[in-house]
Amino acid sequence: MSITIMINDNQKYIDNNSPELIHTQTFDCQCVDFSEDGKPVSSCFECKGKGTISFTNYPFEMNLANGNFRTLWNSLGLNFDYCGEIDPRTILKAINRTPVSLVERQTTEDNEEGKVHIIHCGIDTEQAGWYFTTLTEICEEAEKREEKVYWG
Ligand SMILES: [Zn+2]
Repeated sequence: MSITIMINDNQKYIDNNSPELIHTQTFDCQCVDFSEDGKPVSSCFECKGKGTISFTNYPFEMNLANGNFRTLWNSLGLNFDYCGEIDPRTILKAINRTPVSLVERQTTEDNEEGKVHIIHCGIDTEQAGWYFTTLTEICEEAEKREEKVYWG
């Protein structure tokens, strides 16, 4: 599960104003790796037999695992929920008063006997810094467009 943070109507805005900022990434589909003849599987529901999968990446959007979003939001002192909207200025103020190190988390393991073994993936310094930089870019752009920031 993951959460995307984005500006209201971002994709429409980018399509109309700066389509050159849209990046498409293409990957080989797994069905090619697993097929016996090295060809795409025509019945593959991922690629529909094309053999490749494309992802369209819009600027001013970020995608985080639920747990990392919760850590980021809690570190910033923002109210956590799985979806919502917020004034970008509220986030920018929170970023300005929060040290990046507050977002960092060690990777930990719950390995108690009789319980499910869980590995909590951490957030390292580089990743925490990337969250702050990207979130700042999103909020400054939202402020310019006079739009709210949404997540969900
Ligand atoms: Zn496929």
